[in-house]
Amino acid sequence: MFFKKGKWYVSFAITFDLQNDVSEERKKAIGVDRGLKYIAVAGDKETGNYIHFSGKQIGHIRRKFSRLRRQLQKARNVKALKRLENKEHRIIQYWNHVISKEIIRFAQEQGASVIKIEDLKHIRSMKKHWKRSDRNVNSWAFFDLEAKITYKAQLAELEVQKVNPFKTSQECSNCGKAVKKNRRGSLYKCSCGYKKNADVNASFVIGTRPCKKEKTTTAA
Ligand SMILES: [Zn+2]
Repeated sequence: MFFKKGKWYVSFAITFDLQNDVSEERKKAIGVDRGLKYIAVAGDKETGNYIHFSGKQIGHIRRKFSRLRRQLQKARNVKALKRLENKEHRIIQYWNHVISKEIIRFAQEQGASVIKIEDLKHIRSMKKHWKRSDRNVNSWAFFDLEAKITYKAQLAELEVQKVNPFKTSQECSNCGKAVKKNRRGSLYKCSCGYKKNADVNASFVIGTRPCKKEKTTTAA
């Protein structure tokens, strides 16, 4: 404790418990990759097990909404646009509810206590591939799924950790090398001999990435 400019300050040091860090490493985790073709893939690299949710079933619905949205945007029909958006959100919410439930079940079946997902605070790189008129709803769908996974994980006493999304789709989950051309469409093929569905490979990479550490600040 020290006195400075008429105020008392308490200073303390934050120490890291090494033992704790080691046990963090030992926690079993599954990885979840989010996309549009596959809405989500959850994978466990340790066992090679995975589940995927194809966007096929709702793909045509979303394309229909996309078409309608562009028409309404052109006509500047704000009221109808809002109605359409609400309707689409309800459909997406229903699917995200089903998907997040299955992801939690998968994690439990694998005996995992951690679910790792990409930190998509900055999803600029993904937005590039989306039609301008679809960007808002696609981002919304991604974050809604994340919120539902987080909520259901809490109820199941599972931890959700965010990992750095950098090159998760280019990295080989077997040897760790990141090569862009290894990913061709839906197949990932590495020079180390590893071959896998690209989204499953990405879920394995995400599941084994270290958790993003929050910066600690000192308190006065
Ligand atoms: Zn490899």
